[in-house]
Order: sequence, then structure tokens, then C-alpha cells
Amino acid sequence: MKQITRAADLQSAVKQAKEQNLEIGLVPTMGALHEGHLSLIERALKENDMVVVSLFVNPIQFNNKEDLEKYPRTIDADLKLIESLIARIECRAKELLAFTPSVEEMYPQGEPKEVYHFGPIEEVMEGPRRPGHFSGVAVVVRRLFDLAQPKRAYFGEKDYQQIAVIRSLLEQIKYPIELVPCPIVRADDGLALSSRNMRLSPAARAMAPAINATLEQAAEMAEYEEVDDVKEWVLDTLASYHEVNDCPDGLRFEPEYFEIVDAVTLQPIAEWANAEQNGAVGCIAVWLDGVRLIDIVKF
Ligand code: AMP
Repeated sequence: MKQITRAADLQSAVKQAKEQNLEIGLVPTMGALHEGHLSLIERALKENDMVVVSLFVNPIQFNNKEDLEKYPRTIDADLKLIESLIARIECRAKELLAFTPSVEEMYPQGEPKEVYHFGPIEEVMEGPRRPGHFSGVAVVVRRLFDLAQPKRAYFGEKDYQQIAVIRSLLEQIKYPIELVPCPIVRADDGLALSSRNMRLSPAARAMAPAINATLEQAAEMAEYEEVDDVKEWVLDTLASYHEVNDCPDGLRFEPEYFEIVDAVTLQPIAEWANAEQNGAVGCIAVWLDGVRLIDIVKF
């Protein structure tokens, strides 16, 4: 593993790799790595000759200043985790570049002016609640595409809407990059791993698996209940969780949204039959203990 902080150094390493016809895999992250990120990195190491992992807390995708400030930054531990992953797996890749630029290095001209639009895909769920978020993601991901020139790019299904956005970005900019969606990695108790989980108090962390448990029950209900009934049940179950369970410190779930959408178009469906072709996915955002958690379930 080699750490690179300068864009120019990444470009020259990529140029050399390209001259040798090496296939490059890119894994964009914001650091604070956990097993979820490592599963993407592992897959990239197995499917490519060289892997670029970016660790960059991208300020322009945060629409909440406090969230940006509180975002964990643990570069040294992250690099150790990557080293230990490389040591424990068989991989095709001969080289891993960990790209850890500063904000100035990523955006030398200051805050980028470019704006991306994704139409109906960004008009649902995260889109209206996080104005500018997906455009900020697209700006950084495009910059990473330009620098790393990957054949394949790896993204986690935990950020389900983000995958649809990147698919649309690739269509817009016409880069021949293969988008590789990767399944969610969960803790043993079912909670989707997230860098934000470390901000949960122990009591909140103990409650958090109820999100996935509720979604799993919803998947079973979908066999015999209508879409709207499943939606309502999920929102009610989480919103009233503290009334039914013993939750310390006034902890409670505050669902922000739960939508059942077509797995590709991300448009809400009224009936299960409407998603026959692409499948249906349930996407949720829930506040717990001041932390915003997201998760999905496939129906
Ligand atoms: P982040 O650092 O949160 O921006 O995440 C970087 C990448 O890792 C994104 O493509 C995420 O979707 C993915 N990711 C985050 N958590 C998980 C998880 N629990 N399982 C699989 N992928 C994940």
C-alpha cells in the first residue's frame, strides 16, 4: 500500500499503470473505514490489477455544517485496516494506492461551481432533504474518475440512491466505467455498518438493530400486504418503538422517511406489480440519538 496526498502524484502513478495496460479499480470513501468499506476494497483488489481507495471527507456534499464537523476522521487507523486487509486476503491487484488529499488539493480553485442534475432520481428520499448533496457527490466522484481513470468503480448499496445517481452521472459524462454495486455489510445484530454508528451512545447502539429487524419483518409482510400498509407499518413501528419497549435516556426513533420504490428508477410505487420488472426496494432514514441512520431492504 502506498499513501498519496497529491493529485499530480496519483495522476503519474495512474499514467504508469495505464502504460502497462493495468486495470484500475476505484473505491471512493470518506474514511472512518469499517468492514463495509473493506468489503468494497476486497472486491476491487480481487477484480483489478491496481486499486485506488480515496479517503476524503468531501465538504461540498454536506448540507449540514455540524455533520461535516462531527464526521469522524481516522486516517491512521484507516490505513492500518487496509494494510491488514491486504495481508489477510488473496488478491489480483499488485498495488493499492490510498489517496488522502486535503480539501485544497481536491479543489485548488476553491469551491467548484459545477452543478449536476439527475431529474426524478434526485426528487425523492435523500434528494429534497439534502439539497445539493448528490451534486456534491457527483463533483467529487467525477474528479476521482478523472484522476484514477478506473475500469471499475465500487459503491455500497447502503447508499442506494447514490448508486442510481452515479449510474446517471456515468450516462451523462459518457465514461466507460463499470459501476459495481456491493451488498450491505451488517453487524452481527443486523445494524448496517456506518461510520456514523460510532456516534451512537451504547444505549442507542443497542436499540439501533430494530431498524433492520423492522425492515426484515416488512419484507415478510410484503408477501400479503399492500405497499401503503407496509409503509405505514414500518413508520408506525419505529415511531412508537419507545412506547412499547424499555428505552433509556428518553431515546426514541424519529423516522424521516420510508419509501418503497422501483429498484432502478427510484420512483415510489403504489402497487407491488408496478415494480415487477426491476424489483422494489424500501429505503429508510431514521434519527436516533442525534444521528441520522439509513438502511434499505429489498422486496
Ligand atoms: P462513505 O465513506 O460512507 O462515503 O462510504 C463509502 C462507500 O462505502 C460507499 O459506496 C458506501 O455505500 C459504502 N458503504 C458504507 N457502509 C457500507 C456497508 N455497511 N456495507 C457496504 N458498503 C458500505
